[in-house]
Amino acid sequence: MTVSKPENITSRSAALFEEAKRYIPGGVNSPVRAFRGVGGNPLFFQGGEGAWLTDEDSNRYIDYVGAWGPLILGHRHPDVIEALQAQLTHGLGYGASTEAEVTIAKTICKLVPSIERVRLVTSGTEATMSAIRVARGYTRRDKVVKFEGCYHGHVDGLLVKAGSGALTLGEPDSLGVPKAYTDLTYVLPYNDAAALEKLFETNGDEIACIIVEPVAGNMNLVPPVPGYLETMRELCTHYGSVLIFDEVMTGFRVALGGAQAHYNVTPDLTALGKVIGGGLPVGAFGGKREIMEMIAPMGPVYQAGTLAGSPLAVAAGMAMLNAIQKPGFHDELNRRSKALMNGLQARADAANIPFTTHQLGGMFGCFFSEEESISTFEQVMACDVERFRRYFHLMLNNGVYLAPSAFEAGFVSAAHGDEEINKTLDAAEIAFAAL
Ligand SMILES: *Cc1c(COP(=O)(O)O)cnc(C)c1O
Repeated sequence: MTVSKPENITSRSAALFEEAKRYIPGGVNSPVRAFRGVGGNPLFFQGGEGAWLTDEDSNRYIDYVGAWGPLILGHRHPDVIEALQAQLTHGLGYGASTEAEVTIAKTICKLVPSIERVRLVTSGTEATMSAIRVARGYTRRDKVVKFEGCYHGHVDGLLVKAGSGALTLGEPDSLGVPKAYTDLTYVLPYNDAAALEKLFETNGDEIACIIVEPVAGNMNLVPPVPGYLETMRELCTHYGSVLIFDEVMTGFRVALGGAQAHYNVTPDLTALGKVIGGGLPVGAFGGKREIMEMIAPMGPVYQAGTLAGSPLAVAAGMAMLNAIQKPGFHDELNRRSKALMNGLQARADAANIPFTTHQLGGMFGCFFSEEESISTFEQVMACDVERFRRYFHLMLNNGVYLAPSAFEAGFVSAAHGDEEINKTLDAAEIAFAAL
């Protein structure tokens, strides 16, 4: 395999990265973008169209990152672009309410029935942070339960054994977070119902909430084992704790109603992000009316945002939510993701590469592992990361852009047609043969 242009120091991406490092810590505005998990130079992109990305050296790639989740329709979907252009003629924001905010709130409440009241914020981090604050205010308790390998944004008290970039960089705990904050966080192994029951038996009445990714997507992709989410629901109900589903990644992606619809388990609060912004910065949190009405101006829990409900972001998000409500949208997304996973598995098997995949709606995970199925953090950590690194670069050199980390889920969009999927499988065949 010859080294492709993107890795060549004479490339425009490499030159931009050198320049970026002089002004931006590590040259990036979010750590996983730096390619530390796979080695080599990160790509700089000039544009995207449908399922395709074009880098600064005019190389084209089939994109499975999708801006880390939001782009469920692919790049520059006409509905989203049109909605943005229409809003541009009216204004960028007023710091006051708009009709579009009412429309999107109503739509979110309709699509995710556990959400009776919802508030918009500008990132997933804000959504989880605010949901936890409300849960604490409502229960008048301080302790939070999270799970190893789950990532909920860079919220202070949740950067304990966190997934995503924190895991990729080997920094699942963060300096700069006072011990007093993390002392309020219990961290348990994911998919271990017995550990959860035991904790609640001894400490249940001091637990404000459980926050969980109902499908873990920040330690690659690990679905909940049967009964696990149900156990959480029962424990929270019994002990008067708030169950928060962090559906920033899974919301509108694994199913129209999110993971809670797929597994039929109802949380008290839900954090949303990614897809609801259509590619612009939006997050949301919502849930039971009684809990949400603890928030200012109705109640004593303070939460606010200068740019919250930004008309541009809401316009993009609403266009996205309209498009994904078309009948059969998620069935088709599921079919394509499944075809991709089945195709990859067949090619890995043919090349005698130990390989396992998980897939749910428009989300997937691939593991270089002998295990048939992965359900624990330990199993994720036991995968062959070195082999993933080589696979990542082989795929990149053959025109496929995967998340630059063995610990991230992948995303398929509605723009990934048979042509893109077949091209990806051809690239994988070459990659597996070279592994
Ligand atoms: C991405 C993500 C977040 C953080 O969202 P940001 O918009 O990056 O702040 C939180 N929770 C989950 C599950 C995520 O995947």
